[in-house]
Amino acid sequence: MGKLFGTSGVRGVVNLDLKPELALDLGLALATYLKNTGLVVLGKDPRTSSDMLESCLDSGLLSGGCDVRSLGAAPTPAVSFATRTLGARSGVMITASHNPPEYNGIKFFSSDGMAFTPEQEQEIERLYFAGKLKPVAWDKIGKVEEVNMLPDYIDKIASSVSLSRGFKVVVDCANGAGALATPLILRSLGCKVITLNSQLDGFFPSRALEPAPENLRELGRVVRSLGADLGLAHDGDADRIAAVDERGRAVGWDRLLALAGAHAVERVKGKVVTTVDASIVVEERVAAAGGSVVRTRVGDVAVAQAVKANRAVFGGEPSGAWIYPEIHLCPDGPLAGVRIIELMDEAAKPLSKLADEVPEYPIARVKVRCPDAKKAATMKKVAALARKAFGDIEQMLTVDGVRLALSDGSWILVRPSGTEPYIRITAEAKAVARVNALVKTAKKLVGG
Ligand code: MG
Repeated sequence: MGKLFGTSGVRGVVNLDLKPELALDLGLALATYLKNTGLVVLGKDPRTSSDMLESCLDSGLLSGGCDVRSLGAAPTPAVSFATRTLGARSGVMITASHNPPEYNGIKFFSSDGMAFTPEQEQEIERLYFAGKLKPVAWDKIGKVEEVNMLPDYIDKIASSVSLSRGFKVVVDCANGAGALATPLILRSLGCKVITLNSQLDGFFPSRALEPAPENLRELGRVVRSLGADLGLAHDGDADRIAAVDERGRAVGWDRLLALAGAHAVERVKGKVVTTVDASIVVEERVAAAGGSVVRTRVGDVAVAQAVKANRAVFGGEPSGAWIYPEIHLCPDGPLAGVRIIELMDEAAKPLSKLADEVPEYPIARVKVRCPDAKKAATMKKVAALARKAFGDIEQMLTVDGVRLALSDGSWILVRPSGTEPYIRITAEAKAVARVNALVKTAKKLVGG
């Protein structure tokens, strides 16, 4: 059977991979999946192609008998929130997240606000490829109604936290959908907010959309020159967060994740979910706060599923996609930003100090060429020979590639790339020599 969905919905270059007719069919496929009835919430990021795809999705959903509640431009977590709050059967977000402006994407959500699981996506693909799309008769066609759910979403996030003082925050929304929420949430909490790149613009003229350290230099400069307490940044649809401290330095994602995981556990004792590629500082900080860590596959859907299954108090990836299940099971950038300020407030320390208290260990990321056809056999060999090659293994995880936790606290991850002809090797240890030795052994095992 063919595939439409990748790791985060259907995504591609607009009018080449992602054509209007596909959006139309996906709308009708979703309506067919929902048994041709019920409400679907629809939101979009400000890309130049979002209106075009929205029209097609609307037509598909209406022709399949569903009613649409149209949110207009909104962050992805607001679409998840509205889906649950309005009692909709499903939600749809039109976004390509951090991809360049020529891309767009379509992501589905369940009635509980969680992104579709791979099984649900396969069901949509099955309907699509089998030509089982089912329109309804003229008198069952659905209607579109516009509804503004942003004030409710903003209230929900703002009321989940109280701060003892107003912080001075620079917010860089990359001309994306976060501009509709984060500055307003922070202002309602008494913060002084200076916005950067916060006018919606589908050409994304300000910076690359991934809030990675190399894209946050301007934010760092503004934070420093204005004497702000911190800077916050989102990707295009604001399901991710990044932060710079008061000195203008981007805080490493692993450090930020360790701080957030420990903070969540301090509030409510429990489990924290993270992915196989996150640093061991997450375990260290969470354990010190009295919690434990569950490792799962890479990808926000895998994290959301694991948070639900383990009844965890927090889930996060080292890409800044964080889930706070007391609000919902969708990574939420505005909420994550508010929680960062809350933890600074509770600790009564500047962000630079909090970040520096989290160690940063040597970490190596290398890739070894491996054709797609040989990946499965290579990974089987790695799993079979790992114990002998590395010795002293405390835990071997095979949820996503092979991850070995070694008794000296170091770890190694051997994982096939989903999109390129490589096997990726990641190793972290407290000494550089140890990291290099681990990589050398793994390379030999992979055959690179
Ligand atoms: Mg995103």
